[in-house]
Amino acid sequence: MNIFDDLDALKKICDDNDILSTTFREIAEHAGKPTESWGSHSKGIAVRFREAGVNMIAIDDTLPPEERYFTFAHELGHVLLEHLTNRREKIDAAETEADVFAATFTAMRLFLQPFERD
Ligand SMILES: [Zn+2]
Repeated sequence: MNIFDDLDALKKICDDNDILSTTFREIAEHAGKPTESWGSHSKGIAVRFREAGVNMIAIDDTLPPEERYFTFAHELGHVLLEHLTNRREKIDAAETEADVFAATFTAMRLFLQPFERD
């Protein structure tokens, strides 16, 4: 199995931080509309429902495993680095921070792989 098929560590962080995680496919099924009808198509999103105080991550689960993993970690970075709660003037800086978070998380996944038991 490709190690990037295993999103459990990322999902556990979501669970521990009360972050809802889902996929575009699940949202599309719920809405009864195919994702192809959405127009512009990003790889993932992180949103905060301010009134409810709920954060949610949604990713495109049709991406290749490595890209899906990185995208999930990137969106998680946006939530944990509080990009959704603190309005930032510099969007580019937030994107870079989220990329660094995701790259670090992904590198750790690769680093720890040899030490994992089956
Ligand atoms: Zn981003």
